[in-house]
Amino acid sequence: MVCDAVKGVWKGLVPHRIEVFVWLAILGKINTRHKLASIGILPIDQDVCPLCSSCPESSDHLLLHCEVSRQLWGWWLNLWDLKWVFPKSLSEAFAQWKLIKKGKKFFVKVWAASFFIIVWTVWKERNIRIFQASSSTVKDLRDLVLLRMGWWISGWEEGFPYSPSDIQRNPWCLEWEGVSRAADPAIIKPSYIPWSPPIKNVLKWNVDASVVISNTCAAIGGVLRNHEGKFVCLFSTPIPYMEINCAEILAIHRAISISSYSSLTKSASLLLESDSSNAVMWCNNDNGGPWNMMYYLNFIRSCRKEMISIEITHKGRSSNFVADSLAKQGLRRQDEFIAWL
Ligand SMILES: [Zn+2]
Repeated sequence: MVCDAVKGVWKGLVPHRIEVFVWLAILGKINTRHKLASIGILPIDQDVCPLCSSCPESSDHLLLHCEVSRQLWGWWLNLWDLKWVFPKSLSEAFAQWKLIKKGKKFFVKVWAASFFIIVWTVWKERNIRIFQASSSTVKDLRDLVLLRMGWWISGWEEGFPYSPSDIQRNPWCLEWEGVSRAADPAIIKPSYIPWSPPIKNVLKWNVDASVVISNTCAAIGGVLRNHEGKFVCLFSTPIPYMEINCAEILAIHRAISISSYSSLTKSASLLLESDSSNAVMWCNNDNGGPWNMMYYLNFIRSCRKEMISIEITHKGRSSNFVADSLAKQGLRRQDEFIAWL
């Protein structure tokens, strides 16, 4: 039957009615205007696509080839650095989608769900345009895709730590690596420490570095959040290739230098968490550390003592997903990205 085609990882990721709808769409069995016109239910001159008003509304056109849909698919693939030769049909698209097994176990589910979510989001927009005579921009539709992703992930019971609005602000947090659970509950180690918010009137930086030896490239990233967990500032910055401890020092340095010139953070109390115990130790001591990083370490030391109120601490990688994904994202950037939110 219809739903038997949605098996394994593909099954149960999104609400059942959406699974069924998408499968009917793949089979070309949804009532598009072109279909209704071809069987005489609509006048033949009214078969036009409500999204672009320029082509007959077939299922493949509406959900895949229409300019609006194409932009949505293109944006999603671009987020993950993937290129796609646009398939001829939705069924071909689905077949290709299943071949992409990108990233960790959690992301494989995100990837599978995204096909359903994009198709469903386009279909809902089409209905709103026809029946409510209102329309959303492609930017609104992107946000809706991420929002739906967040809602549906919360039904998977994976312990994913981010809210739908966190996903909207930083979709790369979907590359979350999951919580590793020991087989025997008696030997669970406290290795998973989720991110915790700072107290009121304190802002917290999480910073990280990513170094890829095989490509000799490196990048750093950081996120500043308030006591409600809201993002205040993000950075994602490519840096010259260097040893990981040095890159971690640069990540701390960047967060502090950004804080030192912004009026928002200059007078605030700051916490900074890094998952590099070496970098944290060197920043907190008055000497030690790689000789070639002395310029950066001295800047951090003098800021810590004289300019801004900042406490630098070591926290495990598990509380640092957003900074980790911003650092990885920096590997693909030409220039630094900084956003105040
Ligand atoms: Zn169209």
